[in-house]
Amino acid sequence: MPQRTLSIIKPDAVGKGFAGAILAEINKAGFRIVAIRKQSISKREAEGFYAVHHERPFFDSLTTFMSSGPLILMVLEKDNAIADLRRLMGATNPANAEEGTIRKKFASSIQENAIHGSDAEETAAFETGYWFAGYELIQG
Ligand code: GDP
Repeated sequence: MPQRTLSIIKPDAVGKGFAGAILAEINKAGFRIVAIRKQSISKREAEGFYAVHHERPFFDSLTTFMSSGPLILMVLEKDNAIADLRRLMGATNPANAEEGTIRKKFASSIQENAIHGSDAEETAAFETGYWFAGYELIQG
């Protein structure tokens, strides 16, 4: 049964020109792109997206980073998409990420770590609805 997840190529990776290479990794791993959009987001939009982290000490820094330049929002689909994308991403801190993962290859720090992927079905539903309207998610 196909599952969908929300992913973001973060501003560090877009700014360094890694977006194409990251999309190639995602494609090679068998994900279909349901929707994709490059845009910049405001600090307030970043704060709403990361609302679950609002008590964390890095909240201000993270939301400033996420609103610092263009990023790429995507809805991806495959069987077991949520867990498979998390595995492909690697650990949050690239220093701990396994060889071959996107964060090992493209991330520069625990904050500027190249890619986001939803961590559960409920968060995938919230995050997808946060950035995309229903009409954008119709399979062609
Ligand atoms: P993820 O699910 O692997 O993205 O990690 P989390 O949900 O724990 O954190 C969300 C995002 O916050 C991460 O992807 C990082 O960009 C950032 N982050 C997490 N931990 C830290 C930290 O200790 N310091 C800073 N500056 N940023 C962090």
